[in-house]
Amino acid sequence: MKKDFNHCESVYWVFTQLCNDECDHCYNFSGPRGERISEAECMQIIDNLPERMDRLILSGGEPLADKKLLFAILDRLQERYGGKTQLMLQTNGDLLTGAILDKLIEKGITRFDISSIDRYHKFEGQRLEKLAALFATRGVNGDDKDPLVDKGNYLHKTNLSWGYWGATEDMWLGGNWARGRALEKDIWKRDPEHNFCTILSGARNFLGGYDDIPQEISIQLWQINPCCPGTKYPMGDARIEKVADVLERVSKQEVFQRLNEGDPWRMGEALGVTEQAARARTQELGNVCLYCDAFFGEYLRELGGGAGAFMELPVIPRMKKKRRF
Ligand code: SF4
Ligand code: SF4
Repeated sequence: MKKDFNHCESVYWVFTQLCNDECDHCYNFSGPRGERISEAECMQIIDNLPERMDRLILSGGEPLADKKLLFAILDRLQERYGGKTQLMLQTNGDLLTGAILDKLIEKGITRFDISSIDRYHKFEGQRLEKLAALFATRGVNGDDKDPLVDKGNYLHKTNLSWGYWGATEDMWLGGNWARGRALEKDIWKRDPEHNFCTILSGARNFLGGYDDIPQEISIQLWQINPCCPGTKYPMGDARIEKVADVLERVSKQEVFQRLNEGDPWRMGEALGVTEQAARARTQELGNVCLYCDAFFGEYLRELGGGAGAFMELPVIPRMKKKRRF
C-alpha cells in the first residue's frame, strides 16, 4: 500500500448529478432534477484534493448540463495544478458543440470520453458520427479508444484524444451496480459470483500497492468513496476534509485494507465474519455491493451528523455477540 496519499494516480469526481437524460440504468439518480452542489462547495473540494494527481476525471450526471459550474471548476483546477494533472471529461456528448469543445480545450481538458453510445441513452448512439467529425475538426485524436485502465495511456499525456463506449448487456447493465435508478428499476443483474470490487471502478487499489489498474478513488458530489458504486457510508466529506487525510485514516483499518485488495468477502475477518459466511450472504442478496451495504450497515457505525450533515469515518464497534453473517 502506498504511504503518500498526497499523490493520487486517479480521482473520479461526479461534481453534479444534473443531466439532460434520465436513463433507467443510471447508478446515481442523475436527471433533470439531479442533485447538485454549489460552486463554493466545489471550490472547497478542489482545495482539499491531493497535492498531486496524475489524472482527474470529471463526470456526472452530465457535466455539460452544469456548464457554468464545470468552467469554474476547470479554471480553479488550472490555478491549482497548472497542467500537471491530466483533465478528462466523461460526457454523454449530447450537448457538445464546436464552441463548447473549444472552450473545454482552452480550459485544459485533454481527454474526452463519450459514454452514451448504446441503445439505452436518449440518442441511442446516433450522434457518434457527428461527434467524430466535430473532434476531427479540432485535431482531437480518436485512435485511443480506452485509456482508462492502462497507465501508459494517461500518465503525463497531454495530447488531445477522445473515445467512446456505452452500456451493454454484459457491462453497465448486466454487470451493473446495484445502485440508484438501476436498483430502483430492477435492471441490475443478479450475479453473486461477480466481484465488481476487484476491477477498475471497484475498490481494488484505491489505497495503492498494485500495478494492474490505476490507484483510483471516487468522489460522488462531496462523498469520498473507495469505488464508483460508493459504500453505504462515505469515507469522508471532501468539502471539509483533506482527501489525503481521509485515505491515511482508512488505510489503518482492516476493512478498507481488504477492500483495497478487491476482496470484500474478507473485509469482515477481523470482526469474526468469515469469507464463507460473507459469500453465503452474497448468494442471498445476489450482488457483492449489496453484501457490502449489509456489512457496513451491520458492522460499521456512522458517527455524528444528521440527515445531510457530515458523516465521519465509520468506526468498527466491538461486537458483543456474533451476527448472522
Ligand atoms: S446514465 Fe449518464 S446520461 Fe444517463 S441519466 Fe445517468 S448520467 Fe445521465
Ligand atoms: S463491494 Fe463495496 S467497496 Fe467494493 S465496489 Fe461494491 S460498494 Fe464498492
